Amino acid sequence: MLEVRGLEVHYGGIAAVQGIDLTVAAGETVALIGANGAGKSSTLKAIARILHDGTTQGRVRLCGEDLATLPTHRLIARGLALVPEGRGIFTRLSVAENLLMGAYARQRRGSKPAIRADLERIYGLLPRLAERERQLAGTLSGGEQQMLALGRALMGQPRLLLLDEPSMGLAPLMVQKIFEVIRNVAASGVSILLVEQNARLALETASRGYVMESGRVSLSGDAASLLADPRVRAAYLGE
Ligand code: ATP
Repeated sequence: MLEVRGLEVHYGGIAAVQGIDLTVAAGETVALIGANGAGKSSTLKAIARILHDGTTQGRVRLCGEDLATLPTHRLIARGLALVPEGRGIFTRLSVAENLLMGAYARQRRGSKPAIRADLERIYGLLPRLAERERQLAGTLSGGEQQMLALGRALMGQPRLLLLDEPSMGLAPLMVQKIFEVIRNVAASGVSILLVEQNARLALETASRGYVMESGRVSLSGDAASLLADPRVRAAYLGE
């Protein structure tokens, strides 16, 4: 599904990502963990081509297609969606309007009944959003805003979902809820690349993982062996 080779990100003289390789297979959930500043967000932004303040090198392929050859707005139509850290929802629009924005690329293709059906599917997956359909997004709680950002990304019918720190700033109960939804989305066949500070939760959700340190991949493997690895336990699981 996703193949990243030799990815580099530079912010002026700072080499934030220094030539990483990673893959996500169809239907797979892959975790990208690491300390603050390891380069995880930069990696996601470079893949989604929304890195505005830095430069990138390397190759990113989605279903075999080189993304560098496509204009950014085409990435959504190709099945890529990013839920950014900090969520990026439209606070002055209602919940329903935010969700419809997620289907924008499809609206222009005139598939209104399909979009309505998708909206109902998202409301089924995230019932809290249905209850608050007409409420302004800016008045939602942090957890509800995270759900909205996820729901909006799903409206684009992604094949690959890039999630940047979905647990950030949320109360433990809300984190459990969000991850339950993420697992449901994964079970529906969507591939997921999950960046998360909460390494345990990420590795319990994913089937494989990569550990980033100072812009490089220092460890990778299946999630169970990473969870058992003494280096991961000492550095990221607080043991
Ligand atoms: P976090 O969890 O804190 O977001 P991260 O692993 O996602 O950490 P990045 O945000 O990718 O890490 O940052 C990697 C490095 O690049 C850090 O040293 C950071 O200070 C630097 N960096 C990130 N964005 C910029 C920027 N816009 N300008 C300059 N340096 C940046």
